[in-house]
Amino acid sequence: AERPPHLNAMLAAAHARDAQAEALVDGDQRWTWGALRDQSTRLALGLRQAGVVAGDRVVLLAPNHAEFVIAMHAVLRLGAVLVPVSMREAGPGIVFILNQCRAALVIADPVMMMLVPPALNDGQPLQRVALGAGSGEGWLRWDALLDQDPAGFTDANPQEDDAAVILYTSGTTGAPKGAVLTHLNLVHSVLHYEHALGLRGGERGLLAVPASHVTGLVALILAMAGVGGCVVLLADFKAAASLALVARERVSYTLMVPAMYALWLREDTLQRTDLSTLRLAGFGGAPMAPATIEGLRVSCPGIRLFNAYGSTETSSPTTMTPPGSDVLEAVGKPLHCADVRVMDDEGREVPAGTPGEVWIAGPMVVPCYWDNPKATADSFVAGYWKSGDIATLDAQGYLRVHDRKKDMINRGGYKVFSVEVENCLLGHPAVQEAATVGVPCPVLGERIHAFVYAPAARDAEKLREELTARCRNELADYKTPDFWTWLQEPLPRNANGKVMKRVLRERV
Ligand code: ATP
Repeated sequence: AERPPHLNAMLAAAHARDAQAEALVDGDQRWTWGALRDQSTRLALGLRQAGVVAGDRVVLLAPNHAEFVIAMHAVLRLGAVLVPVSMREAGPGIVFILNQCRAALVIADPVMMMLVPPALNDGQPLQRVALGAGSGEGWLRWDALLDQDPAGFTDANPQEDDAAVILYTSGTTGAPKGAVLTHLNLVHSVLHYEHALGLRGGERGLLAVPASHVTGLVALILAMAGVGGCVVLLADFKAAASLALVARERVSYTLMVPAMYALWLREDTLQRTDLSTLRLAGFGGAPMAPATIEGLRVSCPGIRLFNAYGSTETSSPTTMTPPGSDVLEAVGKPLHCADVRVMDDEGREVPAGTPGEVWIAGPMVVPCYWDNPKATADSFVAGYWKSGDIATLDAQGYLRVHDRKKDMINRGGYKVFSVEVENCLLGHPAVQEAATVGVPCPVLGERIHAFVYAPAARDAEKLREELTARCRNELADYKTPDFWTWLQEPLPRNANGKVMKRVLRERV
């Protein structure tokens, strides 16, 4: 079949399939495709009345509820640019994003309203819409915007190079940058997923990761524009609640971050939950500890597990575990159209098995960062996006990601992949979470500091001895941590489940 030129065409085709079929489940609420189309048409008209035109940036500050999905459809159908922002973003971050993208309108959940200013820094007024039952002075009401006659609305017909979404990187490695995801990028992401996973029409997906991040957003767009099935939304992840939803809603596929699966494995109800409908369970966004991979293999034998590696700048996956493969420690093999190379510091490709930086080109790679030529020039070279990840490609074509360049520890000239040390620590039965960072050392340049969360361990000194012995046995001698911090609470993570190593470095 001919490739659809833009997302709106795919969404319209999905809407047209069966108006009575279920499109969304949000708690006790259920939406058909017909209802979703009606609501998004009304909202698109309401947004247009509020002044939004094609190309305008619309910031969406909302959790995984039906309103997120309706707003996403409405903004795209207007030809405007959706800018989803995490519910965990703080006030200064929100103000930064509103100004950086020069937003025309913001739709905000009631709990976020107080963080949204009435105007941009240069005084340009900002239209503000309160979600759900929210209201406030100077705010437009959601219900009032929906109060429209939906007849006669025509969808925008964007070009494939037009921006559809701007997603700000979470800033784990610096100031947030707005990756511009075009219609072409997103159409390719959807088609890649469908092709690689063999998804069939009418499948039911669980969306447990936030739709404000690339993994969740693309999973949502995939479910709506590609599969055209039903999306089961979960706003606040809890292991027991997500398992119960899989069983109740007969979910057939999901994509989650490794931390969520680790919580599944600790959940008592896992063994009793009927997961027989779940065919496919993907993970990505961060490395999964070998112990979690093993636990899933044992506890969920009927489910096809797959690793997916990508980033905001590649509008989601570029490599995936191929069908029939159970090599889950690698992030898989490059997808169709993804040109994945491993390069040395001079920008030359390294031989198979040699670590280097991952560079990626292809139609899923974003063209630029929004209004940031400096960051764009730094990260995009000769058509490739430089990922900042250190990895090896093996002779069979599997990619193994070892660390982020910025998290690698240089101990007296010896390069230590933080993830390798962490995986060794996580192999100890008492250790629930572990992270290692480099701390400055006048002699060696950097030394290794380990942060360990082992709530059941009684004797820290004994644990330190055991972990030190474990590292000495399993790793090269320079990889044993020099300093230890015993955490009283789990590691600091961002909304996407990634450990915030910057915060850990600031602590020592
Ligand atoms: P910033 O670039 O500012 O740190 P970020 O952390 O939000 O922002 P994302 O686009 O969310 O960036 O994450 C992409 C990164 O996540 C990848 O470059 C890689 O380091 C890591 N990652 C993604 N998928 C996997 C995976 N399957 N295995 C290991 N690491 C992964």
